[in-house]
Amino acid sequence: MDYIQDNLDEINRKITAAAAKAGRKPAEITLVGVTKTIDAIRIKKMVDCGVRNLGENKVQEILEKHPLIKDVDWHMIGHLQTNKVKYIIDKVTMIHSIDSVKLAEEVSKRAVQIDKRIDILIEINIANESSKYGIQQEKAEEMALELSRLDGIRVCGLMCIAPFVENSELNRPYFKNMRQLFIDIKSKMHNNINMQHLSMGMTNDYDVAIEEGATIVRIGTGIFAERVYNL
Ligand SMILES: *Cc1c(COP(=O)(O)O)cnc(C)c1O
Repeated sequence: MDYIQDNLDEINRKITAAAAKAGRKPAEITLVGVTKTIDAIRIKKMVDCGVRNLGENKVQEILEKHPLIKDVDWHMIGHLQTNKVKYIIDKVTMIHSIDSVKLAEEVSKRAVQIDKRIDILIEINIANESSKYGIQQEKAEEMALELSRLDGIRVCGLMCIAPFVENSELNRPYFKNMRQLFIDIKSKMHNNINMQHLSMGMTNDYDVAIEEGATIVRIGTGIFAERVYNL
C-alpha cells in the first residue's frame, strides 16, 4: 500500500505549487481524504500518512467506519436526507451538503439535543446541473441569513461539486464564481455567519480550485487509485 504515501506526496506537491501560484500558503488548505467505498485497512494507511480529515458521501458508510478509525474528523460531503441526520449528528465535524432550510433545521435540532455546535457549508449547484444537488447561487445569501438564526450550527462557508472534466481549466469560471459569492457574503459581515471555508476541488480539478481560493479540497481517487505504469 506504499502507493497511498506516494499519491499523497504527489498531491501535497500539487497543493503547494497551486498555492504558490496564487500567493497563498499551503497551510491554508485542508485536504479531506474521501474514503467512500474504501476499506478500513486502506483508510488507516492514509490516516497514518497524516490525513486526519475524512469525507464520506453516505450515512451508512460513516456508521460502519466511524467505530473503526480513531482520532479523525469526519466530514459529510454527500446528499443528506433529513430523516438520517440523527444517525450522524454525533459523528461528524462538518456537513458540506446543506441545501435546504428544512435540512438545516433538523441538523440544528439534533445538535442542540446533544449540546453540540456543528459546522455547516451551503452547497451551491454552481453549474446549474440537473443531476446535482445544491441551491442556485442567487439564493445563497438568503439561505445563509436564514440559517444564521439557528442554534447548534455554525454557517462556515460554501461548497460545490463542479462538473466532471478531464481538463481542470474548464472549471475555472465556476470556481471564480464560487469565490466571488463567498466574498460577497463575507463582506457584509452578517451576524453568526462566519465565512471561512470554500470546499471545492476534487481529484481532477483541485489545482485550479486552489488557485481560485479553495480552503478545503476533497480528494478520493487521487489518493486511493493504484496507478498503472506502462511497462
Ligand atoms: C467522491 C467525491 C469526491 C472525491 O472525488 P474524486 O474524484 O474521487 O477525488 C469529492 N466530493 C464529493 C462530494 C464526492 O462524492
